[in-house]
Amino acid sequence: MSVQWIERLYNLQELDLRIRTLNTKLKMIPPEKNKLKEQAGANIADINNQKKVIQDLELKIKQNELNINSAKDLIKKLEQQSSMVKKNSEYEAMLREIAETKVKISDIEDNSLELMDVIADKVVALEKNTKNMKLVNGELKSEYQELDELEKTIKKEIAELTQKRNLKLQGIEIDILNRYEALLNKGTGKPIALILGDSCENCRLKITASTLAQAKKGQVVFCDNCQHFLFLEEHLPL
Ligand SMILES: [Zn+2]
Repeated sequence: MSVQWIERLYNLQELDLRIRTLNTKLKMIPPEKNKLKEQAGANIADINNQKKVIQDLELKIKQNELNINSAKDLIKKLEQQSSMVKKNSEYEAMLREIAETKVKISDIEDNSLELMDVIADKVVALEKNTKNMKLVNGELKSEYQELDELEKTIKKEIAELTQKRNLKLQGIEIDILNRYEALLNKGTGKPIALILGDSCENCRLKITASTLAQAKKGQVVFCDNCQHFLFLEEHLPL
């Protein structure tokens, strides 16, 4: 035999638990979206770092060119001066410096060639990585959009359920409703709990014989332990 207050509160709770579940899901979405955004940003930053490494190497080659030019200028200067020096030792010192500078130039040229090889490899890798990054970030973007859609769908469903909820409030005594909502707002557990055997569905503890006797009469009763409403299944409509 169904009992009206139990039936009404139970129906309200079914709606509220659905709303609670949806709210829990909804809360999880913004951090997920942020994670995707951060990941995409990190992927772009990684590509930019690779570009920066290449630019730095190119700068190094430019610096090498400047160093070669000044070394060549030095050689020219030494050659001019050497034609004018009288002392043999000075002349030899200049020839030595010219020879050393030529070695230095050759070393720098070798270094630039090595750098060019390194750059060529890095450019190939960068192209490949950029293509890959665009693919991955494209996937991240569509995942983000899916979450966006899900968020909208959930919000819409919550709004619809909240509207339905208002209708379910009719006929529930204000004292019962206030207590129910206080229990609901704790955020966990069922405000109105089934009596399973002689235990409370919410806290799983045994209820007293007198509480059970009152519940059997369809009276408003609470769990002796968790203070949630209690009801028997036989008091719901079939
Ligand atoms: Zn309980």
